[in-house]
Amino acid sequence: MNTTSLLSQPLATVAYIGATILFIMSLGGLSHPETSRRGNQYGIIGMAIAVLATIFGPKVTPAGWGWIVGAMAVGGSIGIYAARTVKMTQMPELVALMHSLVGLAAVFVGYANYIDPAASANLPADEHMVHLIETYVGILIGAVTFSGSIVAFGKLAGKISGKPVILPGRHFLNLIALGVVIWFGVQFAGAHEVSQGMVPLYVMTAIALLFGVHMVMAIGGADMPVVVSMLNSYSGWAAAATGFMLSNDLLIVTGALVGSSGAILSYIMCKAMNRQFFSVIAGGFGTEGGAAPAAGAVPAGEVTPITSAETAELLRDAKNVILVPGYGMAVAQAQHTVFEITKLLREKGVNVRFGIHPVAGRMPGHMNVLLAEAKVPYDIVLEMEELNDDFPDTDVAMVIGANDIVNPAAEDDPTSPIAGMPVLQVWKAKTSIVMKRSMASGYAGVDNPLFYKENNRMLFGDAKKMLDEVLVALKG
Ligand code: NDP
Repeated sequence: MNTTSLLSQPLATVAYIGATILFIMSLGGLSHPETSRRGNQYGIIGMAIAVLATIFGPKVTPAGWGWIVGAMAVGGSIGIYAARTVKMTQMPELVALMHSLVGLAAVFVGYANYIDPAASANLPADEHMVHLIETYVGILIGAVTFSGSIVAFGKLAGKISGKPVILPGRHFLNLIALGVVIWFGVQFAGAHEVSQGMVPLYVMTAIALLFGVHMVMAIGGADMPVVVSMLNSYSGWAAAATGFMLSNDLLIVTGALVGSSGAILSYIMCKAMNRQFFSVIAGGFGTEGGAAPAAGAVPAGEVTPITSAETAELLRDAKNVILVPGYGMAVAQAQHTVFEITKLLREKGVNVRFGIHPVAGRMPGHMNVLLAEAKVPYDIVLEMEELNDDFPDTDVAMVIGANDIVNPAAEDDPTSPIAGMPVLQVWKAKTSIVMKRSMASGYAGVDNPLFYKENNRMLFGDAKKMLDEVLVALKG
């Protein structure tokens, strides 16, 4: 133990407990848009306390401070640069990339921990065994998280096709991989020297990396939300594993908080998409990006275009309007104009509400964040199940850059790759208007019969540009 530290062990423990409480309060705050700012502040304060308590605590000598400051300067600069330059639409892939770093850190810490003789010196035999198992499992989770997150990053950024890649006999391959990992784990635990244990570690790491790639490659476009939240959970468990390896209680607690909240989010996402968690993980759902839709799904008929002036007229004459934002609103950054239009219509006595699908956009809560940024009142932003029954009484349902989340094929066509996913039933409104630039499909790559329905109108163009025109027409 380091006797020259500024913080004694009891003081460091108190600081860690304080940070843990702040992290829990942060999670509580983040559960609602109104309290999310405060939640973020708790998180920042908690993390600052955690970092300071670690640096000045008994486990770090002043000789190590230079390294830590150097690493923080490099990491902090990259973080500030990314926060300033990454667009809101690139956030999901940035998050995936960050998850990969947590995994990579767990792998590095695991290797360093195993190679460093001081890390397990003086441990009694049974504790030494536990330490070895922690190291092995920590590296395993870290490697799966790392490679899985890199593939998720590629899929979300459009660098890797959303098409599920299914290897023949994949479940059998996974089973063999598990057997090999366990067998090498036994070899690792029985190794008498570090050099003996390295080969099993290398083999397991390689298998874990391949498994991470295989697992995410097998999941098709429409099921990516589950993968994103699942990798979020994995990154938490990887951090917790790092905590075990470093005997850092705070890291264990924080990792467990992230791991379990990510698992709950995965469950919520699965429920929202009407999927079984294990079926998603087993892979094969989703579609081939841009592929021809299934036979029964091919819609007949023509689309009816509408102008922005006609749209404004329909909105002005409406009593009840539901706006359904999707990924296109984020791309066009149209949320502020959406709010301007909402304000104007509400002043004219129109009942305007927002319908939010749980997987709208490219990350959980994507639409809520954008609408909150534009200062849309929270009480008119409703979840899908809160207003899905209200569409028959709605005069105009306006879809702003959304596609998959309003696709009736999910309900009508059992052969559709998104069959079973609950969707916002905009076609039940008197008139639905879909605002998008072309007839292109959405993330899942499926055609949308909504566009061809008799009561549907297509307002073609960039969402921001078209909404600006609608706003001008409404004011006129
Ligand atoms: P979609 O991807 O289904 O559709 C978005 C539509 O927006 C596109 O069809 C596109 O059509 C249109 N668009 C793009 N840019 C613009 C623009 N500038 N102006 C107007 N329209 C534009 O998005 P949804 O939100 O409906 O559904 C989300 C999809 O993403 C689901 O399949 C979900 O599973 C998946 N996903 C969700 C994640 C999450 O956590 N929320 C994570 C990963 C995937 P056009 O090109 O013709 O303009």
